Amino acid sequence: MNNLVRKSIQKIKPYSSARDEYKGLEGIFLDANESPFGDLNRYPDPHQKKLKTELSKIKSISENAIFIGNGSDEVIDLVFRIFCEPGKDKALIFQPTYGMYEVSAAINDVDLIKVPLNENFQIDFDNANFYMNNPSLKLILICSPNNPTGNSIDGIENILNTFNGIVLVDEAYIDFSDNVSLLQKVTTYPNLIVAQTFSKAYGLAAARIGVAYANPDIITWFNKVKPPYNVSELNQQAALNALQNRTKVLSQIELIKREKKKLIQNLSELNIVKKIYPSDANFLLVEFDDADSRYNQLVKVKIITRNRNSVVKNCIRITIGSSEENEKLINVLKNSLT
Ligand SMILES: *Cc1c(COP(=O)(O)O)cnc(C)c1O
Repeated sequence: MNNLVRKSIQKIKPYSSARDEYKGLEGIFLDANESPFGDLNRYPDPHQKKLKTELSKIKSISENAIFIGNGSDEVIDLVFRIFCEPGKDKALIFQPTYGMYEVSAAINDVDLIKVPLNENFQIDFDNANFYMNNPSLKLILICSPNNPTGNSIDGIENILNTFNGIVLVDEAYIDFSDNVSLLQKVTTYPNLIVAQTFSKAYGLAAARIGVAYANPDIITWFNKVKPPYNVSELNQQAALNALQNRTKVLSQIELIKREKKKLIQNLSELNIVKKIYPSDANFLLVEFDDADSRYNQLVKVKIITRNRNSVVKNCIRITIGSSEENEKLINVLKNSLT
């Protein structure tokens, strides 16, 4: 594993914070140049111990296999930074997919191989296998359920069985899916990283909490490279609260799933809707007669959807909202049948 890590990163001697050097919780703390005044005056736990303990129980995985990031966007960026030599190594994505992979690759000066998904938005393995032995390919990113298409990606283990570099599986929408997470597979595949987030099902997009599950060796590298206090105290608290109220979150997920069924039914009755792609997520990719004009009609009444016309012809990505929000959307679309 360690030989996959960038040379400059291998040599890093990580920053040792005040909270690393003295781990006790009680005392007179004169070691971190904090203010003695206020409620948020102390640096947060750099290792997010309480949050990891909770996640470890819920996900049945050891604490040293967990990394907490400032959103999954930090996880994605760290994966590029740790494993890809800028200007030299390559990463691979299957398109269409989440736009941040391309941005992160560009920021890190990593050449991105873009392999198209097939007509069912699944991996074409004959096509993909061509790249697996490319010695400069270090990282494959797979989003499942995939954004913006909504479907789960089949056969990810085929990749894990043939590719020796790092495989990041982004499961931002896994809580809405009936398919099992690849999380438990991190003990089988030392090169697998599974990213999840509190931004979608857990309703904490504002708090910026992303999680990576992987072999403890990989987690050690994440910890060496991350900024020492990458997750704020407020954000750690927010995530802990959400986990403590998990039954509420789970019932919200069920509600969103029911709303999704309703929305699919209602959309399918409109003749401006040409196709609704199957979704394991909290959004639908919908093909309209004319995505640009339908998108603009919705914006006029302040209903904002994601126009994906440039990515999948005439498609709009629609997030499942509250019951009232979804009804408004349907009413506006019904009345625009012209
Ligand atoms: C929304 C989303 C995320 C979440 O990113 P955060 O930084 O955790 O908010 C990650 N990956 C995909 C594919 C997403 O759609």
